[in-house]
Amino acid sequence: MNPECKTYSGTIKRPTEIADNLAAVEEKIAAAASDTGRDPSSISLISVSKSHPASAASGALAAGHRVFGENRVQETEGKWPSLRAAYPDANVHLIGPLQTNKTADAVALFDAIQTVDREKLARNLAEEMARQDRHPDLFIQVNTGEEPQKAGVLPLDADAFIAKCRVELDLPVVGLMCIPPVDENPALHFALLAEMAARNGLDRLSMGMSADYETAVRLGATEVRVGTAIFGTRPQRS
Ligand SMILES: *Cc1c(COP(=O)(O)O)cnc(C)c1O
Repeated sequence: MNPECKTYSGTIKRPTEIADNLAAVEEKIAAAASDTGRDPSSISLISVSKSHPASAASGALAAGHRVFGENRVQETEGKWPSLRAAYPDANVHLIGPLQTNKTADAVALFDAIQTVDREKLARNLAEEMARQDRHPDLFIQVNTGEEPQKAGVLPLDADAFIAKCRVELDLPVVGLMCIPPVDENPALHFALLAEMAARNGLDRLSMGMSADYETAVRLGATEVRVGTAIFGTRPQRS
């Protein structure tokens, strides 16, 4: 099946536009980093190519970019094998919810899984990683806004869950991830996540999207996940 399906309704950017957007975002990340005395090279820009056709990711790859975010296992299975064949050093993060029945596929496909948020999933990941002898970096997703419809471990349960993943299950947890509520000041959520990571001795913080990645960098983000500002608006899912 062609991932660049004929019903695609998003804006399709030209490769030069994608390259320009990437450069502009990198520049803003560097400025926000130096505002707070951080080394810009300590921040990784994850370009979120979800819902866009393979040609969008390919434009970014051609511009030298290597780190991507996708939110669906199935879409990634359709889109990335050929891109990876052309760019073996591409690095693809899962940033969307992971169903336990897709754990094996996710371990095989992704270089990092950012949405670990419950024990059943953590246990399945441990089993699959052992079985496949593949060890993608894991981030624990925290539902900092305690939104009922949103994935992520609740802030009060986070420390215990992080410990369970690392100590009991020996999972390669590298950091925390959050998606703040759309109608709240993201800075409060970023600060909360940073504090939580610090007290658990975790180095990496995945936070900040197109609207707020500079704020996230000022508050310690080590990975920002930016889609729209690079690839344009996404097509609506039908
Ligand atoms: C879609 C998505 C993004 C990118 O959002 P933009 O606003 O387009 O930059 C970042 N993080 C997650 C988890 C997403 O699902």
